[in-house]
Amino acid sequence: MSTQINIQNNIAAIQARIEAACQLYQRQSPPILMAVTKTRNAAEISEAIAAGLTHLGENYLQEALDKQRQLTSPELQWHFIGPIQTNKTRAIASHFDWVHSVDRAKIITRLNDQRPAELPPLNVCLQINLNDESSKAGIPATDVIELAALALKQPRLILRGLMAIPVQTSNAQEQRQNFAALENILTDLKNAFPQASLDTLSMGMSGDMESAIAEGATIVRIGSDIFGPRPTAKP
Ligand SMILES: *Cc1c(COP(=O)(O)O)cnc(C)c1O
Repeated sequence: MSTQINIQNNIAAIQARIEAACQLYQRQSPPILMAVTKTRNAAEISEAIAAGLTHLGENYLQEALDKQRQLTSPELQWHFIGPIQTNKTRAIASHFDWVHSVDRAKIITRLNDQRPAELPPLNVCLQINLNDESSKAGIPATDVIELAALALKQPRLILRGLMAIPVQTSNAQEQRQNFAALENILTDLKNAFPQASLDTLSMGMSGDMESAIAEGATIVRIGSDIFGPRPTAKP
């Protein structure tokens, strides 16, 4: 019972933060609030759905498939946001509406080839490694045009934009610099491919959401501020 109340209250609080940030930074339309549901069970996620959220982000394929069997409402949009192993692309292409973590040519062609014919084209974002962190997934900004060109050639994919997980910092100015850098890369892409439907900046998590909204986030990915802190170690 108390978890229910907490999740719904937490979502109301985040929506108020989003609204305040949109006013402060003069954003006309608010970003989509994605609930990041890794480590959370179907009962917890149902509370977020009851509060009106329909975009769910999962990092691990098997965990996501288990929950998708329990949460079958047709209005749900499932986003894959974790590292992609080559042998998982068929299942990802079959069970998700969006993939935010596309970071190499092989993944682009496999997702395209394996997207089931009866489903609409798969929405994809290229993941950018903004701070050249060797520990993190994503492509360097210098590779974006080439990979975007490949993605745009795929009939079963729609390249929507860019995603990033910048270095964690509590310094709002540094947060904004990173997000502004991602926005600049998207602007370069739009100039290079003016016909493309590039409308997505997937950026901002619990600790840096307002900075991301300031720099034009269209999807914010929020986990702990909805569901509470995660256990530190993930099995
Ligand atoms: C876990 C995760 C999030 C959510 O992070 P919180 O800090 O819990 O809001 C967002 N994006 C990605 C890619 C994640 O893995």
